[in-house]
Amino acid sequence: MERDIDRVLISQERIAERIKELARQITADHASGTGDEAEVTIVPIMTGAMVFCADLIRQIPVAMQIGLLTVSSYPGRSLRTQGSQIIGQQLGDVRGRHLLLIDDILDSGGTLRLVTQMLHELGPASVRTCVLLRKPREESKDVHADYVGFEIPDEFVVGYGLDYNNYYRNLPDIVTLKPEVIAPT
Ligand code: 5GP
Ligand code: MG
Repeated sequence: MERDIDRVLISQERIAERIKELARQITADHASGTGDEAEVTIVPIMTGAMVFCADLIRQIPVAMQIGLLTVSSYPGRSLRTQGSQIIGQQLGDVRGRHLLLIDDILDSGGTLRLVTQMLHELGPASVRTCVLLRKPREESKDVHADYVGFEIPDEFVVGYGLDYNNYYRNLPDIVTLKPEVIAPT
């Protein structure tokens, strides 16, 4: 684990700070009192978003339910998406609810495109999107995210929920791996 780390890109302290700001913003945007009766359902995309989501929602004091979506885009040791696929869902009834989709990272944008389109078809009041990280990719230029934690360079990162071959999700910081750890694909 530790010895596989090349460098820390974003420390757990910086993540915690940024989550406070995101949560404040999200809370302000979702606070009722405007005559809007629709409630919030948080939809983390499993498995990458679970750590981020757990920290984020505990700072959002708004009535909320949680629905789960499992999307596979990154089988095994590949470093780029192999095409997103929804492989599981446990959303409950989201008709007329405000959905907040949460993902770890916006890369090619394929995941958000697929999932937001699918969610819109379920008749929610609204769909907003929140990603912890965003890479500056040409192909995702037209993909909108309402809340973005950090813009990062186009490098492969792990930790804080993000994996390589399903490992490293429990690292507290967002880090890059030593080149010899990432097997050539
Ligand atoms: P997209 O569909 O936008 O190309 O990619 C989104 C998904 O690809 C993310 O949810 C994440 O699972 C994976 N992904 C993209 N870039 C990285 C990265 O740098 N590290 C890791 N671990 N996963 C990534
Ligand atoms: Mg993912």
